[in-house]
This record gives sequence, C-alpha cells and structure tokens, in this order.
Amino acid sequence: MQIGRWNHQGSGGTASGAGAHASRERRGRSSSFSPSDFSAPSRFGGGRPRGGRAGRGGSRGGRSFGAFGETEAEIAKFVNRAIVTTEEPVFVPEHKFSDFDINAHLKANILAHGYELPTPIQDKAIQHALAGQDVVGLAATGTGKTAAFLIPLIDKVMKQKGERILIMAPTRELAVQIEKELAGFAKGLGFRGMVAVGGANIVPQIKQLKLDPAFVIGTPGRLKDLEERKAIDFGGFGTVVLDEADRMLDMGFIDDMRFILGKMRKERHTLFFSATMSRDIERLIGDFLSSPVVISVKTRDTSANVDQDVVRIARGADKFETLIELLSDREFSKVLVFVRTKHGAERLAKDLSRRHIHAESIHGNKTHGARMRALDAFKRGSVVALVATDVAARGLDIPAVTHVINYDLPSTYEDYVHRIGRTGRAAHKGKALTFVQG
Ligand code: AMP
Repeated sequence: MQIGRWNHQGSGGTASGAGAHASRERRGRSSSFSPSDFSAPSRFGGGRPRGGRAGRGGSRGGRSFGAFGETEAEIAKFVNRAIVTTEEPVFVPEHKFSDFDINAHLKANILAHGYELPTPIQDKAIQHALAGQDVVGLAATGTGKTAAFLIPLIDKVMKQKGERILIMAPTRELAVQIEKELAGFAKGLGFRGMVAVGGANIVPQIKQLKLDPAFVIGTPGRLKDLEERKAIDFGGFGTVVLDEADRMLDMGFIDDMRFILGKMRKERHTLFFSATMSRDIERLIGDFLSSPVVISVKTRDTSANVDQDVVRIARGADKFETLIELLSDREFSKVLVFVRTKHGAERLAKDLSRRHIHAESIHGNKTHGARMRALDAFKRGSVVALVATDVAARGLDIPAVTHVINYDLPSTYEDYVHRIGRTGRAAHKGKALTFVQG
C-alpha cells in the first residue's frame, strides 16, 4: 500500500511502513494511522502522484473501465489537504424560528428538535413558502433544506385542514430521512405522513394511502406505480416538493416526474430543490412552477473539510488486504467504503465479515428493510464499515463518518465529490482515501 509515498507489496509480500504496522496492532493501542499522519505533508498532502499513467491492476472489486482516476492528472484530484476554515464568517440569520408566523406547537417541536437558529436556506425560504409562493432552492444536502420545506408545509397543513402534500425524492433513504424529520416536527400535531418507495412491499403502502395521510413522501417510480394501481390520486394534492431534483434527473426519473406533475392540479404550490442548475432543470422549473422565488445558498465546497489522499496499490497486489489493514486500525471506526456495483458491495461486506470486520452493505438489490437495518447499525456504530454503491449512498446524512474509502474508482469527478461529502460534515473534518492501482 502506498499512501503518499509508501509501497504496499501485496498480501503475499513483505508489507512495509504503515500497512504492516497497522495489521500488527489490530484495534489495539495507538495506531499507525493517527490523525498526525494525516497532517504530515511528507506522507499525505505531500504525496502527490508522480507522472505517467496509472496501471490497471486486476484485483477483486476493481473495474477501471469508464472510471474517473485513470490518468495521473485525474488522480491528482484525489489528493487535497483539508482547508482550515476557521476564518469563515459566522452566518447571522435574519430570522429566529420564533419570528415566523407558524403554529406555536410546531415552534416548540422545532426547538425540541435542537434547532435554535435557521440555516441560510431556512432563513430565506421559509417566509416565501409560508406566503404560498413557489420556491426554487438551489441548495445541496447538508444545508438544512429539509426543514426549509417541512416547516412551512407543516404549518400549512395545520392551517388548511385537508391540504395534502406530496414530496418526491430520488432515493428511498432520503425519503425515509425526510419522514423522520417530519415525525419529529409533527409530534402531537395530529396528522400522518408516510413513505412510498420502491424495494418495499407495495401492499402496506396502499393500505396507508387509504388512511389519507397529509404527507406522502416517495420516489417517483413507486409513486407512479401507486397511481397506476389507483391507490393514489395526484389531483388530490395541492402542494408538491421536488427534493434533489437534479439527482432525480440523473437517475432517469424525468418521465415519472413529469407524469406526476402533469396529473396534479394546475393551481398548486410547488417547492423545488436542486444542488445544481442545468438546462433540464431550468426547463422543469419553467414548465411546472409559477413565478418562483429563486434562492441560492452558497455552500462551502464540502471537500474543503476533507483530507484527501490516494492509496497506491502495487500491480498484482490485492487491494482487499490493503482495506483489511486500514480497517484494522482504530482510527477507522466509521468508514463508508464505495464500490461500483451492487454485487461488489454485497461480496465485499461478506468478505470483510469473514475477516472479522463488522461490515454491512447498502445497494439496490437489498430490500428497503435490509438497507434501513444496515444503515441504522452503521449510524449506531455497531458496524465499522458500510459498503455502498453511489446510488444507495446519495443524500445520506450520517453523522461522524471518520473515513470515506473509494475502494473502486468513481465514474466521474462529480460522483467523487458526492462520495467524499459523506464525511467532513457539519464542522467536522473528514478523511477520504482513494485506491489507485498501478
Ligand atoms: P438537510 O440538508 O436537510 O439534510 O440537513 C442537514 C443536517 O442539518 C441534518 O442533520 C439536520 O438535522 C441539520 N439541521 C437542519 N437545520 C438545522 C438547524 N436550523 N439547526 C441545526 N441543525 C439543523
């Protein structure tokens, strides 16, 4: 293994440097991958890749076709020191939650949820949504956009009995996250919300819809299925939220989104959130929103909080052994490991478990319940490594992920940025390591 300049000779050879050291110390006392290692420029930030093209070592799980990180110029983008961000100005919101003209019980729930002051997107969007205006929020995950739409819409449901809210999200996990936040804010308010996502049995969802929940949070594909089974009538919803609209486009949901929006009332309230702006996004906004207020919150580049480096795997060496060495280190206590395929994720988690490293996987071939169980175990800390595909991990907000390991290269630089954004969240610093063969 080579992080910066170290070489890993492979499982059969003589490991040198940190790799061998780490395996000897297996979760023991102070480990070779101490935080100071990450700040030592000669080993990490200083370990810029050399010239030449990366090899295509064929160890397990690796697939270098169509990947980002196959040239030295691309590999150089995986090496970055976290920027010290203490000089960043503290955001002073214009509003306090108590300033908003919202239900008093809802206000109390917001405080009980631990939110003291609005985040920038909440500070700017809530008042417009409360006034019934369409809103386009250009904001990424981690900005507090969920509460930016939930707070005004919960208030709306309290003020207008019979109002029904549809929330579309790209992934099951994000839908569940939204529902959890909704449950917290809506405690004691006397209405229901439900999750309608694929990968879970549709029958209980049909039953829940019969109870006429105020909030339906779903993925576009499953929502459309439910409509085709006549379990849901989109015409009954006066308000719709499109969360992470750009991700939904990326995931091929455009036709389903247009189908659902097309079935809704023309005079409706639409809140639209996207991390990025593109022609397709502009077209969607133009087609489905009416005179929206556009709010853009500048987000600090999440990767600025993340120490990034490459782990060079010698040609012919087994990167699985390198992963074992890293995970055997105490510092690597909550690690998100990215692979390219669902099968790869499943197999790697099993292989790790066989080597007595507590690992779980999340990917699209698992049932919704199994994914949630894996995610909860990881969040609780009873699992050291969560092996995930890009799609399964999108938008996840998992506190205190210590490391992101790119076991397989990402497909694009954008995917890379999304991957490493799962660590270094809030004010924390994170660490990201990308396996590069050759
Ligand atoms: P989101 O962008 O909605 O996924 O939110 C990102 C994280 O910020 C979540 O863990 C939220 O619980 C948290 N959060 C959102 N709004 C606030 C707030 N006003 N105060 C403190 N934490 C918040």
